[in-house]
Amino acid sequence: MIQVDYAARLREIRDKVEAEERLSMDDGIFLYDPVVPLQEIGMLANYVRERKNGNVGFYNINTHLNPTNVCVYRCRFCAFRSDLRDPKGYVMNDEQILQRGQEATENGCTEMHIVGGLHHKMPYSWYRGIIELLHENYPKIHLKAWTAVEINWFEFQTKKTKQWVLEDQRKAGLGSMPGGGAEIFHPEVRDQLCEHKANTHEWLKVHQTAHEIGLRTNCTMLYGHVEKAYHRVDHLIRLRDLQDRTGGFQVFIPLAFHPDNTKLSDLKKPSALMDLRTVAISRLMLDNVQHIKAYWIMLGIETAQTALAYGADDIDGTVRHELIYHDAGATTPQCLSVDDIRQLIIEAGRDPVERDTVYNRVHREPHDFTQWTTEQAPSETCSSH
Ligand code: SF4
Repeated sequence: MIQVDYAARLREIRDKVEAEERLSMDDGIFLYDPVVPLQEIGMLANYVRERKNGNVGFYNINTHLNPTNVCVYRCRFCAFRSDLRDPKGYVMNDEQILQRGQEATENGCTEMHIVGGLHHKMPYSWYRGIIELLHENYPKIHLKAWTAVEINWFEFQTKKTKQWVLEDQRKAGLGSMPGGGAEIFHPEVRDQLCEHKANTHEWLKVHQTAHEIGLRTNCTMLYGHVEKAYHRVDHLIRLRDLQDRTGGFQVFIPLAFHPDNTKLSDLKKPSALMDLRTVAISRLMLDNVQHIKAYWIMLGIETAQTALAYGADDIDGTVRHELIYHDAGATTPQCLSVDDIRQLIIEAGRDPVERDTVYNRVHREPHDFTQWTTEQAPSETCSSH
């Protein structure tokens, strides 16, 4: 009898998805019930994924830069941060930062992903200077930099508004913003994880302001720790509500929690089944976000490949110098070659397409891999501009 009820409820959701009707909070929570077969949710999410993005599996060629790991905050899930006087703490100098830009250029990277700690002693001018230095020396590389938590810290440092900080960063060379620092928005969870850093209101307001001045941003959710299904779905709906107003999010990235070396190391990391369920439910709930990314560094390569059939259309990049999740126990490689990443997308039955940060398609010169041009993606414009 119960199974029949579940089947009927799932049919209702299927009808809604096929009619392009929005799923509710109750629908999302229902889909997280382990009694609902994962394959059924996956098939529905795949239907939406193919409706939105066809058979494409996007990737990019990118590198990471974490200029410092010293951080005033102590988020319980973070294995990356360091205290000011801890021997593990580091601050990169200009020469090291320029070397990273040079290496990125030589490897054909279109993007640098730049995030780090909120250093007790480094002024705003140091953070701004990193963007300016890289942009002046490597103007072709898109700088996707600073989470909303960092922008909020810059507001505190400069005593200026969000808009001022974001426009000042853009003048220095900022191209777009990553989606980190969102964690879980619901205060029942956020207060347990990171009660001192930018709260949910501030995080959303930074992204709203970025969208209003024409900067595209990404959005994330860190799941698989102390939160419940209700908190996850609440998080997705808060993102969906902002996207309704601005249209500035280009991709959602569900981030699987890695417990090693964190203050939550007694927890287990989420299972592959939970990862796939979260990718699929994200695809179904976020009807107004174009792309869902299966971040292979966190999910592991096999789960990320499988996720391309569970709602994801992007697998992230080749990624050089990832520190944050490797410090927390990620066992994935430090970097994939372009051939590797294309091959794993092909193995998953998708057509590999190189994109830049804002989802323009990238065309490489046949005789010089490091030279490229882009072709603007159709129909992906920020609705606020
Ligand atoms: S997650 Fe970010 S803000 Fe929190 S402790 Fe780690 S580096 Fe600092």
